[in-house]
Amino acid sequence: MRIQKGGLGMNQQLELIPQTKHIPQWLADYFYKANSGNYKYKQDFYEKIKNPILQHFAEFIGFELQIIEYPCHSCDGTGKFKHYYYEYGHRYLLRSEPCWHCTDGIYRTAKFTLKKYVLNGVAYHIPCDFDPNVKHLPTVVKGKIAHENIDPQEALIAYIILLWKYDKAEFYYRMYGFVKDGLKPITNLIQKLIRKDNTNDDLPF
Ligand SMILES: [Zn+2]
Repeated sequence: MRIQKGGLGMNQQLELIPQTKHIPQWLADYFYKANSGNYKYKQDFYEKIKNPILQHFAEFIGFELQIIEYPCHSCDGTGKFKHYYYEYGHRYLLRSEPCWHCTDGIYRTAKFTLKKYVLNGVAYHIPCDFDPNVKHLPTVVKGKIAHENIDPQEALIAYIILLWKYDKAEFYYRMYGFVKDGLKPITNLIQKLIRKDNTNDDLPF
């Protein structure tokens, strides 16, 4: 075996550095968008992209307990029911009392066990379909937290690009459905992706 001058080769050095990037960053950015936005195909995104990508490429961190608090609509999540009276188009607060429908503004609480992953430095969760039998799970409370607002069309574009990249068969199966929705930017994107498949253009866009 030949001893290299200057120590380890580049590839060996890289292996010593803890892995934090798991997919190319431009795809990780699309993953973040597709996961943050709300759009018609969000459930498909979970099944076809999110679960497989996290399971194959991301780092598994552990289990978490998610608590979702549903705010009460009777009292707008305040826990106080307000009685008003109206006079000449003005509204006056008559009195308020503890809401009968909830506890402190929370109508219902749901609990889920989640699997936590880190992909390219960002944490993601997917539902865990078994009981991990771990005591004292770290807890995340969701429901009162505002999420980053991603434009639904931008999120859908991100999902379609990920599908094209990671599940080609599904992309070709679904594309007529996407085109049928009649959104011009989506149709243009699909045409562009199909063109890419038929040329040697492998640049990210
Ligand atoms: Zn209430």
